[in-house]
Formats: sequence, structure tokens, C-alpha cells
Amino acid sequence: MERCALATQPKQLNADTRMRRRKQQCRLRTSNKGVAELLKNKDCLNFVKGVIHQVSKSTKNPFISDDPQEILRGVLIDFSQQYTNDGKPVAGRAYPRDIEYGIGSLGISPLVGTGILPQAAAYHYAETVLHELIHFAGRGGNYSDRQLVRAIGEMGAVPKQYKKWFESFSGDPDENSGFFDAVLQFYCPRKD
Ligand SMILES: [Zn+2]
Repeated sequence: MERCALATQPKQLNADTRMRRRKQQCRLRTSNKGVAELLKNKDCLNFVKGVIHQVSKSTKNPFISDDPQEILRGVLIDFSQQYTNDGKPVAGRAYPRDIEYGIGSLGISPLVGTGILPQAAAYHYAETVLHELIHFAGRGGNYSDRQLVRAIGEMGAVPKQYKKWFESFSGDPDENSGFFDAVLQFYCPRKD
């Protein structure tokens, strides 16, 4: 049984609810487990592998691996920074890998804890890590959001409700990141 320091729960909740919440809170700390959980969903796994294969083909930058858990082994995660782009908060950031040793550095912005459900926070972290790991899949440098958006179009994976958004693209890097993330969440949704 996993131990978790976040386990204090209001006494008025029944035992089942307390146990469920405790488990959800413990999951906040284990992003790699969260990623594994997202990839158990076949739609998610197929999309992730598909987009990595497509982006590698269209950019001629071969992939290191099409398995995010494999990619995670060469990536360090820092949860301490608050990232922004032009003053807007950003969930995560993939820095270029170290030139000599190839280790990647991935940053995750901490969430404000107020008013957020444990399962939403756990999903946010896992999905952000997965998003950034896809950037890290490129052997000759990270794949950009723009390249990933193009690959999604080329593989015919734009969800119906995002077709208009896709067609009206400005090429703005923030919008590319937001679009790639929305599509990733479509194929890798929160289950609980
Ligand atoms: Zn991105």
C-alpha cells in the first residue's frame, strides 16, 4: 500500500470517500504512473505512437522511441517553476536536451491547490508530462508544437469539433501548443 503525506481528510467524510481521496492524492506525486495509466487507453496509446511516427516522417527527424515511458527514462522533471508565455501561465515546458549526455529537462508548473479536485490535478500533471514527452521524442532535437499540429493534420486525426479551429490557424506558437494539447486530451481523456 502506497503511503502518502497528503492523507489528512475531513472527519465528516465517510471511510470510503476518505480512502478514495487519499489514493487520488497519492497519485499526484507519481506522474510516471499517471502517464502509464493514460496509455492503458488504446485510443491514447495509438494516437501517441501515431503522432510520433508521423512527425518523425514529415520532419525527417527520427524518433528516439515511440514509447513515452521509455522517453521518460532520459528526462528529468522539475515541479518547482511557474512558467508563463507573455504573462499567460503555461502548464509545462520541454527544454532542449543536454548536447553531451542527451538528458532532457521537463518543467511542470505547480497548480494553485485551492478548489481543484485531486483527480483533476492528477490528470493535469500526467497529461502535461505526456505532452512534453512527445516533444522530447525527437532524436535530432525536440519536435515543436507546430510540427506536431501539422502531423496531426497529415495523419487525419483532427477531431470533428476542432476542424474549424485547425483550418483557422494563425501559426502563433501559443495556439499551436493549445491545439496540440486539446487534441491530446481528446484522445487521452480523464477517466475518473
Ligand atoms: Zn507543447
